[in-house]
Amino acid sequence: MAEVYNWQIGREMEFPYAESRPEKQWGAVFDINKCIACQTCTMSCKTTWTHGEGQEHMFWNNVETKPYGGHPIGWDTEILDRLGTQNWGSDGVYEGDTIFETNDVDWDDMLIDDELGNFHGEDIEGYRPDDQDWAHPNIGEDEPAGESFESDTHIAEEEETHPMWFFYLPRVCNHCSFAACAGGCPVQAAYKRNEDGIVLIDEDSCQAAQECVRACPYGKSVYNPAESKSQKCVGCYPKVEQGMVPQCFENCLGKIRQHGWVNPPEEADPDNPIDFMVHEAEVALPLYPQLGLEPNVYYVPPINVPTDYLFQMFGPGVEEAKETYKAARRGDEEHRKLRGLLHLMGSTEWRIEQFEVTDEEAIGYDGSGSTVARVPMEEPQYQREHFDAQNNAYRLDVT
Ligand code: SF4
Ligand code: SF4
Ligand code: SF4
Repeated sequence: MAEVYNWQIGREMEFPYAESRPEKQWGAVFDINKCIACQTCTMSCKTTWTHGEGQEHMFWNNVETKPYGGHPIGWDTEILDRLGTQNWGSDGVYEGDTIFETNDVDWDDMLIDDELGNFHGEDIEGYRPDDQDWAHPNIGEDEPAGESFESDTHIAEEEETHPMWFFYLPRVCNHCSFAACAGGCPVQAAYKRNEDGIVLIDEDSCQAAQECVRACPYGKSVYNPAESKSQKCVGCYPKVEQGMVPQCFENCLGKIRQHGWVNPPEEADPDNPIDFMVHEAEVALPLYPQLGLEPNVYYVPPINVPTDYLFQMFGPGVEEAKETYKAARRGDEEHRKLRGLLHLMGSTEWRIEQFEVTDEEAIGYDGSGSTVARVPMEEPQYQREHFDAQNNAYRLDVT
């Protein structure tokens, strides 16, 4: 029986293959509160990786407006509908089925050492988006949910939720610990690298079965009709191998993204930025953990969006994550380390593997211990005299 332990759902679950964790796991934290949907990330990936024939509909990085946007269209409502009831116990254990359990399959028949003919990855719950679903990369942009209100209404920053709301959700492949694309591939062309946990498709082996496209619930494996191959985000492995962050991270204008290694909770290192946000501060949460893939992109939830919507999207812990984030932004001493780390996000093209926060600054170190980023805890400010006698001019700005 291929039983694996998925810490994000707090229990063992069925999976096509036996559990095998890589030496290191590619990971990321995105702070949704800072994303401005400029799509610079989208275009930096597009111009780097998917500008060829047959890739016109591919956006390995996309940014969609929630709750109504999505690429491919409706990817999350499609899979959530198929999943059935999704209850979480008060102990944080998921009580519903994952996409590997919905169809009640005996995965014994398809372990890796079995005959390929025995393989039945199509039993992973999923669907294949059609051409129209891929044709509208930014549908629903800026479409709000909730109640309208008078334009001069003042909403305090700390107010729990806004009556009218939307938020931007940037998405890349999650380089899942239990990758459905790899689990569904009948010829094992989709695989997970042992050295960094990046999930790739070997195009020489790909037989165009498109089972990875059907199995990936996040819509991040995409078919290239010109090449007759399925393709997906490669985690920018050539940069990652050099200790750098991926293209869409380096070019993020809002500095909302942090790349690094993520460990399982029992091996968490509090001075590793991703581990700290995921396991220590518990301010960053996985996207739809109930699907069962243990995705490795984590999100700081948007603080002014209704919690019930966010609970479905990020699972238990969302309320606490919002409160912790708000406290760090307020400057509470208890969350000073998190505040410093939030300052460090997006500050360098090098991967920060360790960090520390001193009285004056937050400092990031690479894998060899060299300093790669220093950011002041307080931005120095100089207020000009209101009247500039030299130029006989009044100044109102602060620099
Ligand atoms: S997000 Fe989809 S394509 Fe990426 S590793 Fe997970 S299952 Fe595979
Ligand atoms: S990590 Fe690299 S390949 Fe993946 S979406 Fe970002 S830029 Fe594209
Ligand atoms: S570049 Fe950054 S801020 Fe701009 S849309 Fe992408 S994730 Fe959001």
